[in-house]
Amino acid sequence: MDIEQDIRARTKTDSSQCMVPLAALLKNDFECNKGQDPIVQHGLACHDKKGEDHTLIKLNCQHLFRDGSVVFSVFGVFDGHNGASAAIFSKEKLLQNVLSAVPTIGSREEWLDALPRALVSGFIKTDIDFQEKGETSGTTATLVIVDRWTVTVAAVGDSRCVLDASDGGIFALSVDHRFEENAEERKRVMECGGEVCRLSLAGGAEIGPLRCWPGGLCLSRSIGDVDVGAFIVPIPHVKQIQLPKTGGRLIIASDGLWDALSIEKAAKCCRGLSAELAAKQLVKESLRARGLRDDTTCLVVDLLPPLGHMSKISLSTNRQNNLKAIIARWRSKGSSTVVANKSNAVGFVEEIFEAGSAKLADRLGTDPCLGVLNCAICQVNMTLHDGISVHAGSVFSTTSQISQGPFLCLTCKAKKDAMEGRPRS
Ligand SMILES: [Zn+2]
Repeated sequence: MDIEQDIRARTKTDSSQCMVPLAALLKNDFECNKGQDPIVQHGLACHDKKGEDHTLIKLNCQHLFRDGSVVFSVFGVFDGHNGASAAIFSKEKLLQNVLSAVPTIGSREEWLDALPRALVSGFIKTDIDFQEKGETSGTTATLVIVDRWTVTVAAVGDSRCVLDASDGGIFALSVDHRFEENAEERKRVMECGGEVCRLSLAGGAEIGPLRCWPGGLCLSRSIGDVDVGAFIVPIPHVKQIQLPKTGGRLIIASDGLWDALSIEKAAKCCRGLSAELAAKQLVKESLRARGLRDDTTCLVVDLLPPLGHMSKISLSTNRQNNLKAIIARWRSKGSSTVVANKSNAVGFVEEIFEAGSAKLADRLGTDPCLGVLNCAICQVNMTLHDGISVHAGSVFSTTSQISQGPFLCLTCKAKKDAMEGRPRS
């Protein structure tokens, strides 16, 4: 019996007898998994120029579900522009908005399945709530949820999350939403009515990176930016992976760091250092390479094998090498949804999910139950006839789809239409 079956069996028995207090049950689950869970260590370093970078670190968060609970840690980097208020607001509200969008679930597997969609809802709700304040600030947002060996990354903007895997592979877990580097995003924004070009000087010379006008923003996705245009959307690229029990290192940083260091250089220049020293080393390296031109923030998160696990890992090395030839190695892909390449090989990163579309209907799918009683985005209560299908109003939707969920409230439906460049009805 593996450890999860064991927990489920014990939980079922204990619940049916109604004799064990919930706190004790949760503690038992925690104790039971402790030997299998990674040791999570983190380090943070930053160097301010404008004071617009903000970070979120929350360890050992708990989410209860029907038959137990999950314990997870959250790390976030928010790089503000036009002031720090959107970054501070997102740091304070985003995680709660994501967790509020996780439906009632019965197991850890359901929680992990629900996270990508909840992240989309949470990012959009945070954007709507901030824009209602009427402030013009905006922010990137890179939110990383670490639940045992599963890492889920959601991001808008150009702060990046990079994985330095234990087998030496270095992978970007986020996509840059910058007009300069992202042709797909340029096309989307222009189709929605935005103009994308460089700043023109008198005489016709063009300078600087590609920007969207009006507003002049270099990013195609962000939270906030009410004055720029609704096609600058808060819909995050989401990627979920499972690390092998040999662990790995996450580097989450604002563009102050990535403008100075490639992801390969960043990963390699801090290997062998603790998370705390690695974060300091990375900021030092980026300042050495480029000087202090921008706020530079770096969070390093190490997922280390549990104590006593290393001997098992070395025993399985030969098996791992044999498997190497026949198992497709995880690699970064485009923006389409990817189903897991299931492999339990020691030492390999397993990709579970990836989606990057800016179309809300793509990201919420076709769940007929989602949003029937609560809006699928903001969770406001709705009566049975209030909700509007997320598929309504699309020329690609079939008749059966537009009467199906997920359903949105009027505010969130108007937000969806605006993000896709349609006039409000
Ligand atoms: Zn709503």
